[in-house]
Amino acid sequence: MQFTIHKLSPSLGYKANCTACGMRYEGDVIAVAINDDEGHPLGELCPNCLGEGATYTADRLRDRAQVLRAKARGLLDLARDFDEADDFPTLAQLQEAEAEAYKEAEDDIVVIRDDLGTAAYRRGTHGHPAELLWAEGVTHG
Ligand SMILES: [Zn+2]
Repeated sequence: MQFTIHKLSPSLGYKANCTACGMRYEGDVIAVAINDDEGHPLGELCPNCLGEGATYTADRLRDRAQVLRAKARGLLDLARDFDEADDFPTLAQLQEAEAEAYKEAEDDIVVIRDDLGTAAYRRGTHGHPAELLWAEGVTHG
């Protein structure tokens, strides 16, 4: 493992996620990068982790590695599911759904979501009551 302290342009500023604790932080003009033994970048350390010292940072890295391992397992499972998926949505389906959503918006449809469920109404006009189009969970009104 190698550390590199590098200088940034003060006008740029930057936002990064700390490799050790995962917290998002805003950098100033100096960044501390971690590289593996071959010099490949692994990320940067936030000022808080630097301030807490090496042992603390090592613990945070271990914690984070566990989280990433769990995420990686989830992604592998997902990849397996995708291999077997015969209902993988197509771009055409997405575009169709988008077009439908835009049309609904034009038709002045109001979707209400709350603790009870979701319901869609066509807004009433000229004294007509709102028309319930569909509902999931407990119906409203
Ligand atoms: Zn950190």
